Amino acid sequence: MAIILQTRVNKLFGSIRWNIVLVFLLLLITSFFAIASTTISLVGNYQLNQRMRNDKYSVEKMAVSVTQLFLNRDISGLNHAIERLAGENDGRLMILDASGKVIADTYARAEGMRISLAETATIINGEQTFGYGVYNLDSNPINAIQNGAMKWINVCTSAIILEGRGVQGIVLFSASLDDVMNNLNVLQNNILVFFLLTAMISLLLSFILAAVITTPINRLTQGIKEMGKGDFSVRVEEKGSYEIKKLSATFNNMSEKLENLEKSRSQFISNASHELKTPLSTMKILVESVLYEESMDADLRKEFLTDVNREIDRLNSVVKDLLTLVTLDNKQISLNKSLFSLSDLVTDISGRMRLYAEKHHKKLFIHVEEDIDIYADSAKMHHIINNLIDNAIKYTEADGEINVNLYRKGKVVVFSVKDNGPGIPKKDINHIFDRFYRIDKARSRDTGGTGLGLSIVHQMVMLHGGNIYVESDYGHGAEFFVELPMAKN
Ligand code: ADP
Repeated sequence: MAIILQTRVNKLFGSIRWNIVLVFLLLLITSFFAIASTTISLVGNYQLNQRMRNDKYSVEKMAVSVTQLFLNRDISGLNHAIERLAGENDGRLMILDASGKVIADTYARAEGMRISLAETATIINGEQTFGYGVYNLDSNPINAIQNGAMKWINVCTSAIILEGRGVQGIVLFSASLDDVMNNLNVLQNNILVFFLLTAMISLLLSFILAAVITTPINRLTQGIKEMGKGDFSVRVEEKGSYEIKKLSATFNNMSEKLENLEKSRSQFISNASHELKTPLSTMKILVESVLYEESMDADLRKEFLTDVNREIDRLNSVVKDLLTLVTLDNKQISLNKSLFSLSDLVTDISGRMRLYAEKHHKKLFIHVEEDIDIYADSAKMHHIINNLIDNAIKYTEADGEINVNLYRKGKVVVFSVKDNGPGIPKKDINHIFDRFYRIDKARSRDTGGTGLGLSIVHQMVMLHGGNIYVESDYGHGAEFFVELPMAKN
């Protein structure tokens, strides 16, 4: 249970979708707090400084205007003056003597009390002639100067100084700061609402973005799963960002190649089975005839057994060619390479094949450029040369002509075999190197062909990093070209 839960949690928070959402949220929250705190502190400081400057100016003016009355200890005059001044400045005004005792108060509540605040202490101690402080009455009730239902107040003090005799008293002015604080609260709330809206939009956007990214990935995963089950026909939509499109295209390309590979594999198996089955069926009929026809004469029996023997040879060649192909298909096959004279090899094989051609009333001409060396597997080169010349002799009518050529062309060596036989129809040219592909099946069989010769040659040329192709004027002959990299001196 715990493990299942853990896996689910890992899946959820390990997914791209949730990572995107989390990153978005984290970025939003940090930037919000940075912006909100900077804005609030900047605006708050600005407004409080503004207030302090105004209050300092007012309280100093008040101090000057009450100095004479204070010095004369004209309490009723003082009360009148502070009443007027407090009204004008919308606050509470107190006059304190040099020890901090209240001698006049617009609220008429604190007379006789001693006020001990940092803003009065600095003046009494002679450190400054002005003091300013901000108080929250909820957490720091200053009973003596508490002003009704207010939450925030400022306390502003100014010294009453007599020339040459120093501080004589203090003017203490306090007023509500709630307007400033309310403004800041409104600002804070507005930012919070803005944040919540932005957070919601960002969440929505991050979900959309995550879906845009993860949907094609999920599609690909689904495609790979289906391919894993053996369905190579699966393709995915090539949609999304550049990288995803590229990934999808690569996947489609791969599945197309696998599908083709699978098709040619099953085609190959069905062709191979067919090739093996035909001689086996023929053999079965022949053997059964020999077995069950007791009255068969000796000559016919011999003829039948000769046919069986021929079919066994066919089977042998098909199996031999199949084995060669399977070996060549193995990409790790190592070529037994050495440096040798291709000119000598072509001359040698062509010379021998000329005798064979002449026996079948065909002419073979050899045009070999001298001293062409090649770094290759000589046994495989032997096979290539032999097979192409053999095909040319096989598929040319009596009196036909075969030309074997070897020459240099740029950076490659070209070996070609040209004949004036039937040639190859255009539609077959692209398939001529396919396994078991034959233009004329009956003729190929009659000449002992398996339909694998050219595909073996093709594989061998490819293994040498070469190229093979055919040019043909149908009805007038064909020329097979093999291009091989020249040996470096
Ligand atoms: P096969 O064993 O049938 O000769 P190959 O793979 O060597 O098999 O050749 C495939 C087919 O290509 C042949 O069956 C034949 O139809 C055609 N072919 C090969 N060489 C020639 C040629 N020189 N001229 C015309 N057709 C050719």
